[in-house]
Amino acid sequence: QGVDLVKHFGGGGLLAAKTVVHAVDGVSLAVRRGETLAIVGESGCGKSTLGRLLLRLIEPTAGDVRYEGRSILSLDEGEMRRLRRELQIIFQDPFASLNPRMTVGDIVGEPIWLHGLAKGPQRRERIAELLRTVGLLPAHANRYPHEFSGGQRQRIGIARALAGEPKLIVGDEPVSALDVSIQAQIINLLEDLKERFGLTLVIVAHDLAVIRHMSDRVAVMYLGEIVEFSSTDGLFDNPLHPYTQALLTAIPVPSPVGRSPKPLLQGDVPSPTAPPPGCRFHTRCPHARPLCREQHPKLEAAGDGRSVACHFWREIQNAGAGAVTAPP
Ligand code: SF4
Ligand code: MG
Repeated sequence: QGVDLVKHFGGGGLLAAKTVVHAVDGVSLAVRRGETLAIVGESGCGKSTLGRLLLRLIEPTAGDVRYEGRSILSLDEGEMRRLRRELQIIFQDPFASLNPRMTVGDIVGEPIWLHGLAKGPQRRERIAELLRTVGLLPAHANRYPHEFSGGQRQRIGIARALAGEPKLIVGDEPVSALDVSIQAQIINLLEDLKERFGLTLVIVAHDLAVIRHMSDRVAVMYLGEIVEFSSTDGLFDNPLHPYTQALLTAIPVPSPVGRSPKPLLQGDVPSPTAPPPGCRFHTRCPHARPLCREQHPKLEAAGDGRSVACHFWREIQNAGAGAVTAPP
């Protein structure tokens, strides 16, 4: 059976994140140990909220988050503190997430101190080791965040996340604030660290190009809901949901004739305070029909462990996914 995870912000009934975190009709959104799971969508789709819910940085209004078979919502403070060592987060803006008045050594060493992992010279040695692990120098420990570039600051954030010897790291848009050339370096670093330490990664991103080569599976979110869930290869080869199809055409592809496809996504994401009735994507969907305005499509199994929430995904598939037409 399924568990709905719901987060309402404020008193207005703002639905920011709603997702099934357990198996429903054979579809499981549980994160698998050792995988890289991507959560993608435009900003305002609730993907960061979902990432924070997974780590219990915020409390869900309803529902449950399970980690290694246990509900993390039932854990007391002490148990939660121990769990926080295992579950870490890397933020989008490395500058905003690093205390400007703390040295890099203190920033990276804080979790070591907090969890009582090492003291004195051992702690200093561990900080030096962590800095080397992320491609920085032990001497950087005495410097301050503002002395570093964006990419280096993200490395500091990663070193801090690694300090507690985590099992799972959530990266909330970990490279979107960085130059494209630096993005690849940080992605490579995350992949190396995943291999080396046997990490599980959950990467929140708005850019499908970023997660294409690093993620095993992808959850596509639109207005707080998962609209498609798939292996990464399946998603890129054969996107089922019109929203996924639109996101994919938005990726600039080098083309021999020198023209990129016309972007399909027009307009902004509607406000999550009043999501459209029926299918939330109907206001922007090139395939929308009257039923879409009335009936909310459920996430249903679509074969190969995939799932999709669209009334007409089969017909759209049969008409040819590559031939989706832009709205008039
Ligand atoms: Fe488009 Fe209708 Fe499918 Fe929603 S249910 S994605 S509006 S075709
Ligand atoms: Mg976000």
